[in-house]
Amino acid sequence: ARNQGRGLAFATSDQQSGSRSSEALALERDLHRALDNEEFFLVYQPQMDLRQGQIVGVEALLRWHHPERGLVSPIQFIPVLEDTGLITRVGDWVIAEACRQSAQWSAQGLILRVGINLSPRQFLEPTLFDRVMLLIAETGANPNEIELEITESLAMQEPATAIALLQRFRAADIQIAIDDFGIGHSSLEYLLKFPIDAIKIDRAFVINVTNALADRAIVRAVTAIGQTLGLNIIAEGVETLRQCDFLEALGVTEIQGYLIGKPMPPRDLIMLLQTFSRPGF
Ligand code: C2E
Ligand code: MG
Ligand code: MG
Ligand code: MG
Repeated sequence: ARNQGRGLAFATSDQQSGSRSSEALALERDLHRALDNEEFFLVYQPQMDLRQGQIVGVEALLRWHHPERGLVSPIQFIPVLEDTGLITRVGDWVIAEACRQSAQWSAQGLILRVGINLSPRQFLEPTLFDRVMLLIAETGANPNEIELEITESLAMQEPATAIALLQRFRAADIQIAIDDFGIGHSSLEYLLKFPIDAIKIDRAFVINVTNALADRAIVRAVTAIGQTLGLNIIAEGVETLRQCDFLEALGVTEIQGYLIGKPMPPRDLIMLLQTFSRPGF
């Protein structure tokens, strides 16, 4: 009844402002119970190191299996989680589940970095650090196999706070990646100021790397600076061998994308690891 009450409140303000679609409201109502109904699950997308030709990491990606709609894209529901503040609870579930999986892989002798996405709202919560450390301790995950992905836009809001927080994570042996790099502002400045381990180059640049000189120049500049700073450079959304070849020539260190594998459940990932060989070799 409480959720319904809240839904009605939003519906009223929706009619007034016209800003919240009834679609978003329906999703919101269903998201309130998705966690308790165990409708969320994680899939893992492999990342291949170009120097070794081996899978060295994965990114954990959230999926929502809606009882009637089926699979709903995170592009649709993550913003709703953010707007409603539900992202805190769901985000904690993601961290806990990814850490649990990481600990299980470690116990099986698998050395695999696991990337976890943090939304802007999560990142700005004062209790984030303590909660992450608690979840790592509870699950027995190895901190240095955990990588937190943050976006440059959110880091930009309060640079001093962000830098202090990132330093705490790194002091705790947790790795930091800047996600969707290249679509924000003053990106290069951040590379110099923020204590990070990796940059993930946005798929938008990868798509054009084989034909657009400007995008290629940006990738080249980012990898050059990344190399100087000893950062890992991961290209996102690599779908073709041709893109892979260009990116390797530009100095990118790892690739993630359908060429290597789609986001998949742990079982499929283990099978891929057992049979994996570098595409095109
Ligand atoms: P992202 O973190 O940049 O994740 C990469 C997205 O690109 C994923 O979409 C992945 O499936 C997709 N992708 C990977 N390789 C390819 C490719 O070769 N071609 C194409 N066309 N797409 C590719 P997905 O899983 O739909 O997630 C979308 C976004 O939702 C993520 O972008 C991330 O921002 C957000 N997200 C996903 N899971 C979480 C989560 O647990 N927490 C938070 N805060 N955000 C999440
Ligand atoms: Mg990501
Ligand atoms: Mg990304
Ligand atoms: Mg992206």
